[in-house]
Amino acid sequence: PETITVAELANRMAERGADLVKALFKMGMPVTVNQTIDQDTAELLITEFGHNFKRVSESDIDIVASTEDEPEGTLLPRAPVVTIMGHVDHGKTSLLDALRGTDVAAGEAGGITQHIGAYQVTVPSGDKVTFLDTPGHEAFSEMRARGANVTDIVIIVVAADDGIRPQTIEAINHTKAAGVPMIVAINKVDKPGGNAQKVREALLQYDVQVEAMGGEVQDVEVSALKRTGLDELIDKILLQAEILELKANPDREAEGTVVEAQLDKGRGPVATILVRKGTLKVGDIFVVGAESGKVRALIDDKGKQVKTAGPSVPVEVLGLSGVPGAGDTLTVVENEARAREVAEYRAGVIQRKRTTQAPANLESMFSQFR
Ligand code: GDP
Ligand code: MG
Repeated sequence: PETITVAELANRMAERGADLVKALFKMGMPVTVNQTIDQDTAELLITEFGHNFKRVSESDIDIVASTEDEPEGTLLPRAPVVTIMGHVDHGKTSLLDALRGTDVAAGEAGGITQHIGAYQVTVPSGDKVTFLDTPGHEAFSEMRARGANVTDIVIIVVAADDGIRPQTIEAINHTKAAGVPMIVAINKVDKPGGNAQKVREALLQYDVQVEAMGGEVQDVEVSALKRTGLDELIDKILLQAEILELKANPDREAEGTVVEAQLDKGRGPVATILVRKGTLKVGDIFVVGAESGKVRALIDDKGKQVKTAGPSVPVEVLGLSGVPGAGDTLTVVENEARAREVAEYRAGVIQRKRTTQAPANLESMFSQFR
């Protein structure tokens, strides 16, 4: 049976662990914050505190609303969040770069794109797609382990001339474990010696049936180098997104996930936040992991200062008390006293369980996957 520690659940709910312990005691379960409870108890507790949850997979739950139910009719479509995985050298970075090149909004911003760990592309139809640029399978499972199920769709890149390799299998397994739909991008089809059909057939061995093989997994032939097949890939992402009916309420206090964070020489602690719901605004007071702060500035993936960032939008946040960890949740709270209280409490919990702590920047640890 799946379990979660009281502390971790409190963290996800942005509640105090002590309050959860109290509630559990009343329910006849005397436990401490460091003890684990099973999924049914967790769900009961989440409801008890007036939060919502959804089972994102058989083994994981996601808390979808902090303090109130999302009122009827407040949910609006949001852009899909896509992660690219695959074996080293199969073209993950090249594909990310190529997809970034399709952004019709990039020109307007002067073409200066900066690396903030995630970016959003506006495709010619006007639809938007957010790509997470934190590659690496460990990064993906680490984020998940920390309760950050940020990815809606995984693209598995397989080089047509190299076929299924160990990290391809790993990527398939991670994606299945997360219960996230995948799209197979067969890359390097420009290369002589590439055999896309062989890849499709080989995938069957790993229980991945692409459409051409009578299955339901979408696949597309691309060349990141020659920039072919990209429109088709984007169409498939949008189609998958439509099936998923991705929605969020932009009209509430923001909640987001740290994609990466570091101490910047001139700007102090900086975190890239992927907004999950609500709208993050300059001036908002927030808790993020064991840190707190007030949004001093928001900078988008084109390096432009913005006043707000809505669901599925990645944005750099300035004004943090310190550097949070990748996968930490940012929650906007009503006032500074509340922010400090939650942050201090979390700091205590995090200190106690800091044995194998996640790095502040997942990328630094998993740079070999780039
Ligand atoms: P990653 O390790 O998965 O991020 O792979 P990279 O994007 O770094 O690509 C590895 C190598 O494959 C680089 O030398 C790329 O130029 C090359 N490459 C990537 N995509 C293509 C492609 O579509 N066609 C060809 N011919 N080479 C590619
Ligand atoms: Mg790479």
